[in-house]
Amino acid sequence: MNSNLLNTPIDYLKGLGANRSEIIKKELKIFDYKGLVNLFPNRYIDKSKYYKIKELPNFSCDVQIIGEISNLSEIGIGRKKRLVAHFNDGEDEIELIWFKSVKWLKKSLLLNTKYIAFGKLNFFANKVSIPHPELELYKPESLSLRLKLQPIYPSTETLVKKSISNKVISNLVKSLLFDVKLKFKETIPDYLISELKLLDKNSSIYNVHFPKNNELLSEAIRRLKFEELLFLQLQLLKKNINRKDKIKGYNFNVVGNNFNKFYKEVLPFELTNAQKKVLKEIRNDLGSNAQMNRLLQGDVGSGKTIIAFMTILIALDNGFQACLMAPTEILSVQHYVGFIEMSKLLNINIVILTGSTKASQKKEIYKALELGEIDIIIGTHSLIQDKVVFKNLGLAIIDEQHKFGVAQRSKLWAKSTTPPHILIMTATPIPRTLAMSAYGDLDISLIDELPPGRREITTVHRYDSNRLSVFKFIKDQISEGRQVYIVYPLIEESKNMDFKDLMDGYESLSREFEQPKYQISIVHGRMKAQDKEFEMKRFENKETQILIATTVIEVGVNIPNASVMVIESSERFGLSQLHQLRGRVGRGIHKSYCILMSGNKLSNESKLRLKTMTQTNNGFLIAEKDLEIRGPGDIMGTQQSGVIDLKIADLISDQKILTYARKFAKQILEDDKNLSKEKNSNLLNTYNHLVKNKDLWSYIG
Ligand code: ADP
Ligand code: MG
Repeated sequence: MNSNLLNTPIDYLKGLGANRSEIIKKELKIFDYKGLVNLFPNRYIDKSKYYKIKELPNFSCDVQIIGEISNLSEIGIGRKKRLVAHFNDGEDEIELIWFKSVKWLKKSLLLNTKYIAFGKLNFFANKVSIPHPELELYKPESLSLRLKLQPIYPSTETLVKKSISNKVISNLVKSLLFDVKLKFKETIPDYLISELKLLDKNSSIYNVHFPKNNELLSEAIRRLKFEELLFLQLQLLKKNINRKDKIKGYNFNVVGNNFNKFYKEVLPFELTNAQKKVLKEIRNDLGSNAQMNRLLQGDVGSGKTIIAFMTILIALDNGFQACLMAPTEILSVQHYVGFIEMSKLLNINIVILTGSTKASQKKEIYKALELGEIDIIIGTHSLIQDKVVFKNLGLAIIDEQHKFGVAQRSKLWAKSTTPPHILIMTATPIPRTLAMSAYGDLDISLIDELPPGRREITTVHRYDSNRLSVFKFIKDQISEGRQVYIVYPLIEESKNMDFKDLMDGYESLSREFEQPKYQISIVHGRMKAQDKEFEMKRFENKETQILIATTVIEVGVNIPNASVMVIESSERFGLSQLHQLRGRVGRGIHKSYCILMSGNKLSNESKLRLKTMTQTNNGFLIAEKDLEIRGPGDIMGTQQSGVIDLKIADLISDQKILTYARKFAKQILEDDKNLSKEKNSNLLNTYNHLVKNKDLWSYIG
């Protein structure tokens, strides 16, 4: 019966009326009783303290005073008309002032009667007053029952305009809890409640709205946040389990010639411990009979490519084909060249397919691919065209494309009954908390250490006015044999302007760095692929010392002799982009530098970004900062935002609870993967409801 009650439309609430209930529906997306009790306060005003007037603080803040009105008078005329009350606490006096509802207030306020006045202090011309205070009749017997912490609910401009104040909302919730006396069923099993010492559901809801005291309030919030995150994690982890149950994968149980030979005879360095650990995780997946769906996160330069290559060798050793997809042509070429180099002692056939591959060549590739004559194909998005048909694709690796959606991923295997294993690699470190939530259905591997010998990249911020000293520094580096990147922003919407910036920059640099002493390469989006490649090659071969580019070089490019990265208009780049760009240097044995150029006028956000860059080289710290600055929705794009649409928990500030919730969700599912044990019946009910309605908070009662 109670659950029916919870579904009652808010129109039925006493005293609300059709007009206002429509506004609430529209503004707050609240339609029924349960929607209203699940509107959690943003904050609370402490009303536990009563001030004497002589003890009032000398700055503006909320205060509460007990006193009587000794005098009430209208002052001024027209728009300046106001009602002024002299409020006396027995010793001193303060003015209470109203500009609205003057007539009505004047009639209804009582003189020489004790009130509690609450409001914000206002200081004007050496006088203290409280404009528009809340007044409440003082009753000593009910003082102990009085709300000590007043909830402040989310609001909107329209609500305020239509006089649906916090008090109105608060009273609606109050009537649901204290008149209708709604009851809320537990959603978390007893054993967890007692192990984690959680407040029960019913008390939590009552206390989150009308806290009896500070302790109960924080207990209530802790419990509700845990509940929300627990069910979020249960849902994500279960999706993962279901996928593994349902989607069978090829079993790569052979560790064969290619892998062994490469490992023993070619691999030019020892893998870092982090790389070894990740490789083990991948090998476990590949031999588990389920499809691998793994996200490999590793900071720029942590050595993901080698992991990709070795994983591909395993696929080949088991008789399958593999593909590697990269976001840009330059990166594809670089991978292709690297792979050819690494496979020189192996007998394998590698091809590259991009937008600029000639038509005749493409045809040959399609044919050979279908016949199984090609072992590895590397390329851009061209790889997911319908024309690309594999004989037996066993593994698909996607580099630097964390935004490559599930739908696109599945395009890679639409044509075979058994899907290939999938490895997604990214250096845009998605903060762990966010990854855990937004990618709950992927397994996550982390390379959390850089190959030995890497040194911090010294990063500085310089204003355009300091350009001369920057040029001098670049010349010094070049005279030591180093090479330099100079990057200009490219933003889709203002392509023409950006192009002009780039060309202007090129011109002035050509004047500063004169031929033949200095040679400059230039690479930008308007060039043909062959020309880009040609220019990149010249830089790679050290024929040029400076490479000017738009952000096409952002990801992946690997030229160890380059030691300086100059980023022009750096205030226009996002944090993760800046970090990616910086990662193009510091790849060899030379001390490296990143110089962030900017104009003099900077927004606070830009300042914060540049400061973050100069303070740390750690991609994960940068990602956390980025999340803080931009918020999760922006980072993940809209497609994932549904997952992280949380009502009470916050992915940034509640990381501890999130980790905790994830741990317990894992334990629960390891012990009872279908939540079918009696002790988990609460969980199952809520879980089912959640899956059906996609909204945790629609389940209560
Ligand atoms: P990213 O993770 O950014 O893709 P790369 O795979 O391009 O990084 O690796 C960066 C550089 O580090 C490459 O030159 C690579 O050969 C080198 N490298 C990778 N792993 C190791 C290692 N274990 N020891 C030494 N150098 C390594
Ligand atoms: Mg890479």
